[in-house]
Amino acid sequence: MTVYQILQLEGDFIEVCDECGFDGVLVNMDDAAAQFRGLKDRWSLVFTHSEVLLRARPTPETWCAIEYAQHTAAIIGAIEWAARLYVDGRSADWTQLPQDLAGEFDHAHHACERFDLTSTLDTLGSAAISMASFAINLTTDEQARTADYSGGLVMSIAAVVRHALHDAEHHLLDIRRGLARLQLPAT
Ligand SMILES: [Zn+2]
Repeated sequence: MTVYQILQLEGDFIEVCDECGFDGVLVNMDDAAAQFRGLKDRWSLVFTHSEVLLRARPTPETWCAIEYAQHTAAIIGAIEWAARLYVDGRSADWTQLPQDLAGEFDHAHHACERFDLTSTLDTLGSAAISMASFAINLTTDEQARTADYSGGLVMSIAAVVRHALHDAEHHLLDIRRGLARLQLPAT
């Protein structure tokens, strides 16, 4: 569960999370693009663990690393889809989300054998590179343009990009915690 708030600071919308420490004020679009470009490397380091470990759920209700990677790829792609609509001055109807976006958003049941490890990381990397390209090409005017992200939650487009970055970084922390839990002896 992501514990965060969007704060309105100095005319911008700043996402701050007291669980993973994400602080949007430290992330301009150059930073966001750089972090998205490096995302696959950061995840790949964690994914050097054994595939048995990466496919184990730490608890029955906590996704395994592969499931989180699939979810995060889907989230990044979905948020880029929405953000591109906002740039065009349109709002995103999430029920119209394209069905052909990469990654699997939901994992109600543990069935990660459907997903190959290498292609999962490739899918995540491709989504992140695409978002990096989107972020770096936003004009200052576009970055500040606001939109109803969902259910009345208004954010700038820059904040929407940062939200995707936070989601990815937060889930990497979730994975690392899960892997630690799986390796430590039960107390
Ligand atoms: Zn967080």
